[in-house]
Amino acid sequence: MSANATSSCQSSNNPTAAPGIDKDQAGPAVICHPDYASQSRGDGLIGQKTVAAFALGAMVLSLPTGALAETVVCSESLVSVTAPNASRAQSVCTTVMATLPKLAQCDLRLSHPLSITVLNDLPGVSDTCFGYYVCDGHRIFVRSPGGIAEITQLSRLYKHIAPEVVFDSIVVHEVSHAAFEQTACEDALCLANHEYVAYVMQMWSFPLVVRQKIVEQFGQDEPVEPIRLNDLIAVIAPEKFAALAWQHFNQPGNGCDFVRALVNGNVSLEILWQ
Ligand SMILES: [Zn+2]
Repeated sequence: MSANATSSCQSSNNPTAAPGIDKDQAGPAVICHPDYASQSRGDGLIGQKTVAAFALGAMVLSLPTGALAETVVCSESLVSVTAPNASRAQSVCTTVMATLPKLAQCDLRLSHPLSITVLNDLPGVSDTCFGYYVCDGHRIFVRSPGGIAEITQLSRLYKHIAPEVVFDSIVVHEVSHAAFEQTACEDALCLANHEYVAYVMQMWSFPLVVRQKIVEQFGQDEPVEPIRLNDLIAVIAPEKFAALAWQHFNQPGNGCDFVRALVNGNVSLEILWQ
């Protein structure tokens, strides 16, 4: 493992920055390249209308007959959600609003608008893909709970978890990717660092009993050495990566201090072959 020390951390708030990550699938992950992501934009959604969601609910600005999707602007945030119906969009807002403070604890923040689109099927990606964020850090696509229910049996990590719980956790995972992309140094934006942050936040979002089960099933004797949290494990065994990341995060001296070190480029999980 390398420790990337940077004396002048450059913000990654750059649409042309290095490719980010596109994964969170039942099967092997894929690395997101801009071209790949551009094929997966939510184009084709027609009949969208805007709904402004506030703390106590959603205020419908316009709801024409036959609308195919609703867009909600989450209260006091840079996040908007487009979903098949307003209640689903609002529930995603609720999940996001619960996630942003946890991210902030680790100094991860959204500084640019972020759109989240919920679809029953994700065009342009594998049938086993639960969701992804587009590499520019500003757009996320997530399969709906109904869509997830059809494919969870293909996943070791999610197979015994209720689709609604999986769905919420995927939203957390992808929002964490976006926050890391928008916050971290460019040098920090490698796959392992990205997935560490995303899986830690996702595991944090699970009910305790779910989290414990995942660690029991896929974890290891502690301590978890950082070298175990590498790109290869993240790609071929995401369930193990999730468990190990959570165990590592909870070891003394790690937690948000470790995440901040990743963000600042003071440490990295990227393996540099020399
Ligand atoms: Zn991920």
